[in-house]
Amino acid sequence: MHWADVIANEIAENCEKPLIATGISPTGIIHVGSLREAITGESVRSAVEARGKEVRLIYLIDSFDPLRRRYDFLPPSYEQYVGMPISRIPCPCGKHRNYAHHFVQPFLDAVDSLGVHCEIIWTHELYAQGRFTDCIRTALDKREQVIQILHEVTGKEANPNYAPYNPVCEKCGRFATPKFDTFEFPYIWYECSCGHCGRNDISSGEGKLTWRLEWPAKWKIFGTSAEPFGKDHAAAGGSYDSGKRIVSEIYGGVAPYPIPYEFVQLKGVGQMHKSLGCPVTGLDAINMTPPEVLNYLFLRVLPSRTIDYDSGLGTLDMADEYDRMEVKFFNKDWTEAEENTIRAYEIAQHNHVPSKLPLQIPYRHLVNVVQMAPDFDGVIEVLKRTVDLSEATPEDMDRLRRRVDCVRYWLNGFAPDQVKFSIMPSLPEMIQIDTMEKVFFKELVNRMNDCNWETDVINEIVSGTAKSMPIGSKAGYKALYKIFIGKSAGPRLGSFLASMDKKFVINRLMQASN
Ligand SMILES: [Zn+2]
Ligand SMILES: [Zn+2]
Repeated sequence: MHWADVIANEIAENCEKPLIATGISPTGIIHVGSLREAITGESVRSAVEARGKEVRLIYLIDSFDPLRRRYDFLPPSYEQYVGMPISRIPCPCGKHRNYAHHFVQPFLDAVDSLGVHCEIIWTHELYAQGRFTDCIRTALDKREQVIQILHEVTGKEANPNYAPYNPVCEKCGRFATPKFDTFEFPYIWYECSCGHCGRNDISSGEGKLTWRLEWPAKWKIFGTSAEPFGKDHAAAGGSYDSGKRIVSEIYGGVAPYPIPYEFVQLKGVGQMHKSLGCPVTGLDAINMTPPEVLNYLFLRVLPSRTIDYDSGLGTLDMADEYDRMEVKFFNKDWTEAEENTIRAYEIAQHNHVPSKLPLQIPYRHLVNVVQMAPDFDGVIEVLKRTVDLSEATPEDMDRLRRRVDCVRYWLNGFAPDQVKFSIMPSLPEMIQIDTMEKVFFKELVNRMNDCNWETDVINEIVSGTAKSMPIGSKAGYKALYKIFIGKSAGPRLGSFLASMDKKFVINRLMQASN
C-alpha cells in the first residue's frame, strides 16, 4: 500500500476532525525540502479526503521568529534588526509588508500552483490574537517541570535559567530575558541586552515561546492530527520527542502522527544564486518542474528516503518517467512492482484524476521546440508541424502552457549547454563550408523538394543521403547542425527539421550549397 494511504487510514480511523499541519520558517531562502513538506502534507490531506472525511491542511509560517543573524544576502543595514521578530523587520525590496512576507509570499503563490489546498496561518498573528496565552501561562507556571522534561529527553544538563518564553523589549524591539520570579499573570518583568528593564503582558502578543515549547503549543491550539517535518526534528532527543511530552504533561494535549521526511539533495549544475549562496531554491524547483511532475517526484518514494533533485538533465528524466506512468495508468498496464508508483501518480492529482489520457508531448521534444519560438503561440505553431493538436482539450492546453513556462525557466538558468541552441536567422558570412558538404546539401534539396514534411520521412532522407555519399553520416549531421544552429551537435535531426518550415529549411540548404 502507498505510504500516504497507510497514514490516511490511520488518521481517518482515529480522528474525528482531522487536521494536517505543515510549516515553514521564512527567515531566508526557501529550500526544496520545504516543498517536500508541503507536498507530503497535501498528499495526506487528499488521501484522507478521499476516505470521505472533512479534513483541513494548515500551513504555519513562523513569522514571529527572530532574525538570528544578518545573512550574506542581506544588506549591512540589516545588522540593526538581528534579534527582532521577522514580522517586524522591513522587507529588503520594499514591495512586501515585512521581511517574512518578502521571503515566503512568492513561495506560497507557487505552492498554490501545485494544487496544495491549505490555509495559511501567520504565527505572529496567532500571538497578537492571544491564541498562545494559555500555553505561555502554563509553560511559565510549570517551568521547573519543563526544565526536567528537557533534561530527561535531551540528556543535557538541566538549565535552571531556561526561558520557555521571551518578551519583546518595549524599547528596542528585540527578544529579552524574563525574570521568572516576577511572574504574576499576566505580567512578567524582563531585562534586555539594550539595558532596558520593563514589564511585559504575556497576553499582549509582545513575546514568544521558544521553539521546543511553541511547537507543542501549536498542536494543542489546533488539535493537529498529523504533521510532516524534517528528520532533524525527529532525531532521538529532538524537538518531536520533547514536544510529545510537553504537549501531554504540560499543556494537556496530544502529539500528532509524525511524518518525518528525509532531506532533498541537490544535484545538477545550475546557476548559483549569488545573492542567496544556494544553487536551487524551492521556488526554482517549482518554476522549472511541471507541478504534476513535482508532486509525483515527492510521492513515489517513502518520506524516509532521500530524494535527489537534479536540476540538470534529470529534470527531463523526471518528466519522462511521469509521462510513462501516466500512460500505464490509463492503459491499466502495470506490474506488481509498479503498484506504488502508479498510486503515486494518482495521488499526485489530488483527487482530480483526468478522465482520459492527457495530450503528451515528449518533454525533450518540447525543450527543443521552446527554443524555436519566442512565445507560446509560436510554440504551438512549431508543434503543429509534427504533432496533431486537433483533439487537445482546454486542460491539455493549460498543461502545455505550464510545461512551456517550466522549460523556459529551466533553459534560462539550469539547463546544461548541450541541450541549448538557437536557430540562426540567416547563414553567417564567415561560415566555412567545404565542397563535400555543399554537394551533400544540394542532394538533400533534390530529395526533399517533393517529400512529405514529416519526421520519419526526413530522417530517412537525411540518413540515406549522408550514408550514400562521400561525406558519411557523422560529418553529414555535423554539417547540418553547423548551418542551422552553428554548433556541431543538437536535437534529433528528423523532428528538428520537421519542426521548421519546409521552405526555410530548403532555402538554407540551397544557400549553403552555393
Ligand atoms: Zn520584498
Ligand atoms: Zn531592549
